[in-house]
Amino acid sequence: MSTTGRSAARATSAEALARVATARVAAQGPTHASEGPGEGPGPGPEYGQGAVRRPSAPGYATARQSAKGISTESVVSARAEALESWLAEHTGDLVQWRRHIHANPELSRTEFATTEFIASWLTKAGLTPQVLPGGTGLICDIGPGLEAGPRIALRADIDALPLQEFTGLGFASTVPGVSHACGHDAHTTILLGTALALAQMPDLPVGVRLIFQPAEEVMPGGAIDVVAAGAMADVERVFALHCDPRLAVGKVGIRVGAITSAADTVELVLDSPGGHTSRPHLTSDLVYAIGSVITGLPGLLSRRIDPRTSTVMVWGAVSAGKAPNAIPQTGMLTGTVRTGDHATWALLEPMVREIVEGLLAPTGVRYQLNYRRGVPPVVNDEHSTRMFEDAIKTVGPQALADTPQSGGGEDFSWYLEQVPGAMARLGVWSGEGDQLDLHQPTFDLDERALAVGVRVLSNIVLGQGNPTPA
Ligand SMILES: [Zn+2]
Ligand SMILES: [Zn+2]
Repeated sequence: MSTTGRSAARATSAEALARVATARVAAQGPTHASEGPGEGPGPGPEYGQGAVRRPSAPGYATARQSAKGISTESVVSARAEALESWLAEHTGDLVQWRRHIHANPELSRTEFATTEFIASWLTKAGLTPQVLPGGTGLICDIGPGLEAGPRIALRADIDALPLQEFTGLGFASTVPGVSHACGHDAHTTILLGTALALAQMPDLPVGVRLIFQPAEEVMPGGAIDVVAAGAMADVERVFALHCDPRLAVGKVGIRVGAITSAADTVELVLDSPGGHTSRPHLTSDLVYAIGSVITGLPGLLSRRIDPRTSTVMVWGAVSAGKAPNAIPQTGMLTGTVRTGDHATWALLEPMVREIVEGLLAPTGVRYQLNYRRGVPPVVNDEHSTRMFEDAIKTVGPQALADTPQSGGGEDFSWYLEQVPGAMARLGVWSGEGDQLDLHQPTFDLDERALAVGVRVLSNIVLGQGNPTPA
C-alpha cells in the first residue's frame, strides 16, 4: 500500500474536459460538453496517481472505441485525466456525502431519504434517475443509448442494519437502533461519485446503468425486486464493490469464481405419540430420531457432495423433551447449509429432503421439513474479473489483491443469474488498530477508500474505450 498526494501538475477539471472534447471533436465532430455539478470543497486524502488506463486483459476484444481512428488514444487519455481532475476537486464531497448518509441510516425498504438524497445529486448533474416501484432505490442511465450496444451496470446497496452504533464518531447514526455497520453508506457514496464523475464527461465509451439497490440486508433481498423491475434489460455485465475491513485501504481484492456462498436454512419439526422411556417399541423415539438426523444429515451430505465445493451443513439449534423418563412428543432442529458452488446449490434441497426421509422413515417419527433457499453464491466470471483487475490497477501497482471466498451471502448474486459480472472487495482498514468485522456496532471505515472506489468503478467504464490489444 502506498499513499500519494494529489499531483501538483494535475490539470483542472475544465482543462481536462476541454481535452476530451477536443479529442472527440477531432474524431467525431461537435459535442455538447457541459459543466459538471462541481460545487464541492477541496481535496481529501486519496490513493493513486490516475494512470492512463492501458488494456492488459486478454478479453478486451469487445472494447468499444467511441472515437474512430487515430484519436482513440488521446480520447482515452483525456477521459482518464478528467476523472482524476474530478477526484481532485470532489474527494471532500465524497466524505461529506458518506457522513451524511452514515448519520441518517434507513432500514431495508424504507430508504426514502437516502433515495431522495441520491436522486437530488443525480438530477443536479443533469441525469434522470428513476425511483424503483417499491418507492426506494433507483436506477439511472448515463452515456450512449442502445445504438452503442448493451450497457454496463454498476450496483450499490443503500440500506442500513437494525443495529445500535457504538463508534463514538462525530457523524454517528442519529437513528436509535439503526446503523450503517456494513459500509453501504460508502457503497452509495462511491456509486454517486462515479455517476457524477462520468456524467461530466462529454461522452462515454459505453452506456452505464447505475443501480442504487434497496434492501440488501434482508431476505428476500432487494436485488430480486430490482431485477423484476427490468433493471437488467439491455445490460451486458454488472459490477459491484463491497467494503472489506480485513483489507488495507488502497487495496481491492478480487478472484475468479465464487466470492461469497449460498446459505440456505433447514428447519425440521418432528412429532411422535410420545411415551415411557421403558417402552420405546410401543411408540416412536423422537430424541433418538433427532440424534440420527443431527449426525446423519451433515455426514451423508459430506459423502454425497464433492468436498471441493466448500459445502457445509451445521446445526444451530435443537430442542426436545424435559423429563429423563419420557419420550417427548415434539422436537425441532434448525441449521444452515452453505456452498460455494452454484451447481451444488441447485442440488441441495432435494438431496436434504431425500436424506432426511431416509433417516427418519425407520424411526416412525413424523416430520415437517421447511427448507428455505437463501441467495446463490456470487460467482465472478473470468472476463468481468479481468475488467475489474485492470480498473483496480489504475489505483496503483500494489492495489490489486487476492481475496478468499467468504462463507457469507450477498444478494448481488441475483443479478449474476441474469448477466455475467463480478464483485470486488474494497479495502477499508486504516492499517492501524483492530480489524473490525462487518455488522459490528463499532465498525468504521477509512474514508480514503471512497476515492479508491470511484476510481475503480469509473475505470471499469472508461476501460471500455481502450484500444483493442493486438
Ligand atoms: Zn451486511
Ligand atoms: Zn453489505
